[in-house]
Amino acid sequence: MDHNRRNFIKKLGWVAGGLAATGLKCQAGKIFPREKMKLSFEPYNLQLRHTFTLANSSRNSTPVMLTKIEYGGMVGYGEASMPPYLGETRETAARFLSGTDLSQFNDPFRIEEILEYVDSLAPENRAAKASVDIALHDLTGKLIQMPWYKVWGLSSEDTPNTSFTIGIDTPEVVRQKVKEASRFKILKVKLGRENDREIIKTIRSVTNVPLCVDVNEGWTDKQKALDMIWWLKEKRIEFVEQPMPGKDREGLAWLTENSPLPVIADEPVQRLPDLKKAAGVYSGINIKLMKCTGMREAYKMIILAKALGLKVMIGCMTETSCAVSAAAQLSPLAQWADLDGNLLITNDPYKGVQVIDGKITLNNKPGIGIEKR
Ligand code: MG
Repeated sequence: MDHNRRNFIKKLGWVAGGLAATGLKCQAGKIFPREKMKLSFEPYNLQLRHTFTLANSSRNSTPVMLTKIEYGGMVGYGEASMPPYLGETRETAARFLSGTDLSQFNDPFRIEEILEYVDSLAPENRAAKASVDIALHDLTGKLIQMPWYKVWGLSSEDTPNTSFTIGIDTPEVVRQKVKEASRFKILKVKLGRENDREIIKTIRSVTNVPLCVDVNEGWTDKQKALDMIWWLKEKRIEFVEQPMPGKDREGLAWLTENSPLPVIADEPVQRLPDLKKAAGVYSGINIKLMKCTGMREAYKMIILAKALGLKVMIGCMTETSCAVSAAAQLSPLAQWADLDGNLLITNDPYKGVQVIDGKITLNNKPGIGIEKR
């Protein structure tokens, strides 16, 4: 054996020894036995800090389902958040998850195949599907000891500021809420009622931070909507989310073409195939894990949105730090983030991504970067 060859074999030995010393070999050893994945779930009720008011409803709590996938001595955590207007309940989620048999898979890294199976079980149940997707990503990230933003090749420095939602309320309470939100660099305001201008004026009387508005399909006349958007531009609004009903595609396309501010789609754009319909109608899309069945499809949507020239915002429902931290893994790819769901509740069972100085701040923990409180 010549000298170079002997040296090469010696170096291989060092690498193998190094892997064993870091524990990677031990983790890998757990991946290969024909072990089965175990999915379990439990209902949980999120208590909201303030009554949450939308154009047509208000509420004080949000039902969620917390999921777990156990495998190889590791636990991956997931969550389905089910605000009532989305049509899923703890009962529908429990039924869906009871019928989800992950024990047929003995390799959690076959994520594509596993999630295709999960998606094939029912046409809807998107939040329940997301709760499996998130737990699977958390599990696999933990098995290779890597946070998902790193697996995707992203930098934690590229995370955007998150907006913080100021709920609809009396002028006095709105002013108080804005003052309490002084650490945020961008605020989100829900519009679409009679007093839109009054709300913006009230907020502008106490702060100059950038604002974005979400109309939740509340305006119906395109010319009035355009006049309002020109007025909002003067008030330093950054973009307008779902100004008119999604079914008025012609009106929305006209509005986007003439609008001085980006028009972002939310309600009509749920999953990957919806992007074809969004191009040419909107300037960008709001991606949420609970709409699109989880992290894997959200990642695909972001890549396709960029290819179609659509701007990307990543949003959430009222959620624990579990689903919010999962979405945050993708946030370096988004222009805007609206990941304040965990900040609106008083009983978060997890600790994960943080907002520091208004910016989403990822940690180095593996998977989706959370731990139990
Ligand atoms: Mg919205």
